[in-house]
Amino acid sequence: MTLDLCSDTHMHTTYSDGSAPVADMADAAFEKGLTAIAITDHVPLPFDNRYAMKMEQISRYRDDVGQAKNEYSGRMAVKTGLEMEYMPEHRDWMDAILAIGWDLTIASVHNLVKGERPLLVNGNETEFQACLNKNFGRDIKSLCRAYFHTVQEAVETGWFDVVGHLDVLKKYNTKNRFFNETEGWYRELVNDTLNTIHAQGMKLEINMGALAHPIAIPYPSPWIVWSARKKGIPLVMGSDAHHPRAVGQGFDRIQAILAQPPASPPW
Ligand SMILES: [Zn+2]
Ligand SMILES: [Zn+2]
Repeated sequence: MTLDLCSDTHMHTTYSDGSAPVADMADAAFEKGLTAIAITDHVPLPFDNRYAMKMEQISRYRDDVGQAKNEYSGRMAVKTGLEMEYMPEHRDWMDAILAIGWDLTIASVHNLVKGERPLLVNGNETEFQACLNKNFGRDIKSLCRAYFHTVQEAVETGWFDVVGHLDVLKKYNTKNRFFNETEGWYRELVNDTLNTIHAQGMKLEINMGALAHPIAIPYPSPWIVWSARKKGIPLVMGSDAHHPRAVGQGFDRIQAILAQPPASPPW
């Protein structure tokens, strides 16, 4: 299964937590030789946060992406996308936004709710620790289970095109500080999630933005990509760029990263 390294399906602009306008991201992608991109800002959320688009900006966002689409027509495909935030508590909210119609939607889980309020699993480390402590009583297995079960639930809705940063909960797991990916319980969670993705016919993102995070291993880890490939799950590349220079980041490294099969295949 070949990877399309000229297509970047995940990036942010100033409409959410990116640092450049839509046009600058599209220009950067074209200059880097990409032939297709999706602009995927964070979907508006029904609670206070520091990163999502505002509801009243949706129409201007779509206009701006539409303008980039026209500008690069015939030279580079530009998709009007959204990075959705799957939260079971807010399905009606999401449903209404999805009904607007999008070229590409990414299903991501950033927050876990198990108590009064949502807490981020992929914010800064203090936020991750707060999520682990307050929502899961420091039980990392419970956090992992809740995370992957929420991803599975998102996939089962059939509402989305691509699963984003599948194992982003490992962001701070350097030197197995919190859990060990080779343990059976974790592999089982991942395997169940991959089976759900395959059954639903969804695509899986290889998110190279992870290389700039503490863990510095793509989301998902290479053994998961190998497993996904074996199951026949289609893969797409995403930079998760928040700045023009990060568009397509790490794409030139993925073949080398995936060159060696995992030492102990999980299948
Ligand atoms: Zn994300
Ligand atoms: Zn993102």
